[in-house]
Amino acid sequence: MAAPRIDLHLHTTSSDGALAPADLVARAAAAGLTVISVTDHDTLAGLDSARDAARQRGMRLIDGIEVTAVEAGRDVHVLGYFFDPAYQPLAVFLGRQREARIARVRQIGERLELLKCPVDVAAILAEAARHPGRSVGRPSVADALVAAGHAVDRRDAFDRLLGTGGPAFVPRCGPTVAEVVDVIGAAGGITSLAHPGLTRVDADLPRFVDAGLAALEARHRDHSPATEAHYRALAAVLGIAVSAGSDFHGLGDRDELGDISLDAGDLAALEALVPRRRVAADATPGAGAE
Ligand code: AMP
Ligand code: ZN
Ligand code: FE
Ligand code: FE
Repeated sequence: MAAPRIDLHLHTTSSDGALAPADLVARAAAAGLTVISVTDHDTLAGLDSARDAARQRGMRLIDGIEVTAVEAGRDVHVLGYFFDPAYQPLAVFLGRQREARIARVRQIGERLELLKCPVDVAAILAEAARHPGRSVGRPSVADALVAAGHAVDRRDAFDRLLGTGGPAFVPRCGPTVAEVVDVIGAAGGITSLAHPGLTRVDADLPRFVDAGLAALEARHRDHSPATEAHYRALAAVLGIAVSAGSDFHGLGDRDELGDISLDAGDLAALEALVPRRRVAADATPGAGAE
């Protein structure tokens, strides 16, 4: 039997990806992937249709998410896996994350108006509101800037206006990594620090591991072999697992599927860290205290 092809970091139209969940799964199947996780930003909205599509194709879908945490004013993306998507406190937590995203997009819109690069923020929010649970963010604003002729493409919009420290940048408030680890853990899942080579919080990793972080996303589209080796070694020293993902958004050029894969042994090591039956225990009235 062919070795499984495993990609645990994929985006859909539920956040800032270009493909609807079912279309993403079709693309993943065509690319030879057999185990995937849909990890949209701060939403679980794409999971049901992705799961159905994966089942139809005999693929395995691991429930996933990419949550934006904030540490010392900087965004830190935390991937969550194997949680119970029906766990209500997680839904409440993510609802707050999406509300904060909406407020931030409004503030960015005000900045852009002052900068004489106005975009129709109401239209962005109305479009998102047509799809329950869809999360908005700077990529939607970037697309509107392109459509309005104020930027050439998403990258240009980030480089000149929306990126950290840019003229239309609005700092974010949000949960710490430890708070994200807690809520995913309470939902029965585990967490992996997304693209550590881009986020560059190596000095904070022991603290995150103390808080319960289970893995580092050592293999990622934007990691060189040396960066991957660095994070594999760091994960080993810290006594945690590794994950891998393409961070596919379906936007063309360097965005490809099928070439980034986690080894089956690494997936088994990751899955071995999932707290068994934690959710069932928490759901029992009177249980849950440890
Ligand atoms: P937000 O969550 O609203 O702060 O937007 C951050 C998202 O924008 C990231 O998850 C990326 O998908 C995307 N992004 C960040 N920087 C860039 C960039 N320079 N060019 C294009 N997309 C970017
Ligand atoms: Zn994204
Ligand atoms: Fe990310
Ligand atoms: Fe991502």
